[in-house]
Amino acid sequence: MNAVAAPLVESRLPDWIEPRFFRSVEELFQLAPEAEIGWFDLNDKEPMAKAIRSATKLKWLNSIYAGVDAMPLDLLRERGVVLTNGVGINAITIAEYVVMGMLTVAKGYREVVRAQERHEWLMDSPGKVELHGSRALVLGYGAIGQRVERMLQAFDVDVAKVRRSGGAGALGPDEWRSQLGTFDWVILAVPATAETEGMIGAAELAAMKPTATLINVARGTVVDQEALVVALSAGRPGQAFLDVTSPEPLPADHPLWSLPNAHVTMHLSGRAQTRMFERSVARFLENLARFRRGEPLEPQVD
Ligand code: NDP
Repeated sequence: MNAVAAPLVESRLPDWIEPRFFRSVEELFQLAPEAEIGWFDLNDKEPMAKAIRSATKLKWLNSIYAGVDAMPLDLLRERGVVLTNGVGINAITIAEYVVMGMLTVAKGYREVVRAQERHEWLMDSPGKVELHGSRALVLGYGAIGQRVERMLQAFDVDVAKVRRSGGAGALGPDEWRSQLGTFDWVILAVPATAETEGMIGAAELAAMKPTATLINVARGTVVDQEALVVALSAGRPGQAFLDVTSPEPLPADHPLWSLPNAHVTMHLSGRAQTRMFERSVARFLENLARFRRGEPLEPQVD
């Protein structure tokens, strides 16, 4: 990964960069013990915690990821290290994936691909659903959720959204369940927290329309996956488009792989490498200037 970001950082570093921040781009990426600033793109809690412990002068850690579930947050708080993250950096590509999932399901595209592989000319479309006029619930109306809404407006999809804080046209965390049966698409874009763990369980799945599709681009733990397997086997909801699972990678013998109404996309939705790194680096360099001036960095993880 650093092979993409490193030359971008290298070529754009301002000439005032001081050795105490980090002596070289390589050192920045390795979270050097003497450095005040570290860049982290390793989504793995243990090596990350180890590196943070050894970097005793660390003041600011920049993560490229939006999710903070793999971050040793308590350790960072304890050490007084500011954490900035990649919230929003890959929202566009993830929202495009959500739309792709919806269209794949609506048009029965997987069946079309299979027919082509068989060299078979289908006489009818395996999917005749239009997005136009359908209803979507976007759970989590942050960088990703807002992008999804914007894209779905172009398809004339009626979008309802949920925020932890409610307000501004969004439903609050307790207001959406009673309406679940009215949506054709339930799209998960919430962070993985204690509050959101298993927020889609057996009761929520049973409340969805039999024709509805669950789309998860958040984290696998937001859904009770065992309940999902049971629900999909019973055909309610009709389909699931899952970019994320629990665990990842999904074990080869997991039933989700072979359920005909489950689409598994292997956590690929955010992987727009070059664009993502360009945005990460631009954000990092803006924050670097702020750090030097002693100003607050954005976006900070609490
Ligand atoms: P944001 O922080 O911008 O948005 C999160 C949204 O979720 C906010 O609207 C927040 O409410 C809402 N929310 C939080 N808790 C609850 C709750 N208990 N009930 C209802 N709503 C809640 O994050 P992003 O949109 O950038 O990303 C969301 C998540 O997507 C990430 O945390 C990450 O886990 C996942 N992700 C997945 C990727 C992939 O490759 N599949 C890549 C990037 C992210 P409020 O507005 O009130 O704060």
